[in-house]
Amino acid sequence: MSHTFSASDLEHHITQLFVAAGSTPAEASQVASNLVMANLSGHDSHGVGMAPRYVDAILEKSLTPGSSVAVRVDGGMLLGLDGQQGFGQTVGVQAMELAFERVAQHGACIMSLSHAHHLGRIGHFAEMAVARGWVSLHFVNVLSRPVVAPWHGGDGRYGTNPCCIGIPVGVGDNTQEPFVLDFATSRVAQGKMRVAHNEGKQVAPGTLIDEHGRPTTNPGVVVVPQSNGGYGALMPFGEHKGFGLAVACELLGGALSGGGTWHREADNKRAVYNGMLSIIIDPKALGTQMSFAQETMAFIDWLRQSPATEGSDGVKLAGEPERAARVARQKNGIVVDDATWQEIKDAGAKVGLKL
Ligand code: NAD
Repeated sequence: MSHTFSASDLEHHITQLFVAAGSTPAEASQVASNLVMANLSGHDSHGVGMAPRYVDAILEKSLTPGSSVAVRVDGGMLLGLDGQQGFGQTVGVQAMELAFERVAQHGACIMSLSHAHHLGRIGHFAEMAVARGWVSLHFVNVLSRPVVAPWHGGDGRYGTNPCCIGIPVGVGDNTQEPFVLDFATSRVAQGKMRVAHNEGKQVAPGTLIDEHGRPTTNPGVVVVPQSNGGYGALMPFGEHKGFGLAVACELLGGALSGGGTWHREADNKRAVYNGMLSIIIDPKALGTQMSFAQETMAFIDWLRQSPATEGSDGVKLAGEPERAARVARQKNGIVVDDATWQEIKDAGAKVGLKL
């Protein structure tokens, strides 16, 4: 069974949930709107299904409603920020806005953000930058249960460490839809395994290993404790190359930001902390704005002319699937499976709200 909501109804319920959990209405609405936007974009893994976990993190005092970003270092193009265990959906936006002030002044900004609670869909931040005509790169680590196995390793040692690159295409009246590449460095996002498990589905071979390091298609191995009390693990994407990128995300998002890397046994904490290193560049300041705009358009046009292979719907560019999902889901509504909706109602009950 499932439930279909309009985006505004779903946002209203989730806003109520976070207000009941201790947020101001403004903060609750910003977090809810970000989560619903992830659902609208087709990424249910980072949508309202995360809300129960956030409520648990508030109750265990590892996520602090009302927290805002603290400036640790403010050195021209370099900005070192601490998210102070605040909602990633609010401190992440504050961090980007502070970085944008430096880009306006210096043409670029290297911003690090440590100790943010879950930043959600990283593409949200790249979309903020490309809307201004700026390029943005994000390397992120995840401090939570280590769910991804190193390449040729047999158990989970680190998180799904997302990487994101946003590039505006064209300029002025000739602006086209941007390129927004935004992905977990595991074969699939952990949240997608939660969704598949809740829906009782199996996943593609090559995605997971079980608690003994053996291949499996059962998403439950990374969602619920297994026979030995432990968990299985997700595989890295792109074999040794994807694993290398995941390690780079850990070292840049975790070590360089000051938020730290994961190198300990799993605990039962519900909090998910992210560290993020972001690089934002104004092409105008590099002196290439016009040629950059022409070349981005020419290259994307060239790619689109590639003939579609049999059985495929042809070449798509990163960012397109999310924009198409938004149009479809605004029209048809957002489907929330029964198990996820029950978890949201249970989270409401924990903070005295009947949904
Ligand atoms: P995914 O596997 O769906 O890949 C998404 C990327 O691939 C997008 O850029 C999309 O536009 C592009 N894409 C999809 N189909 C395409 C096609 N046919 N042709 C060209 N490009 C295509 O995403 P994912 O790895 O499941 O990640 C989902 C979300 O999870 C992301 O928004 C990511 O930021 C988020 N995430 C967050 C955290 C965190 O801790 N905050 C951790 C992991 C992932």
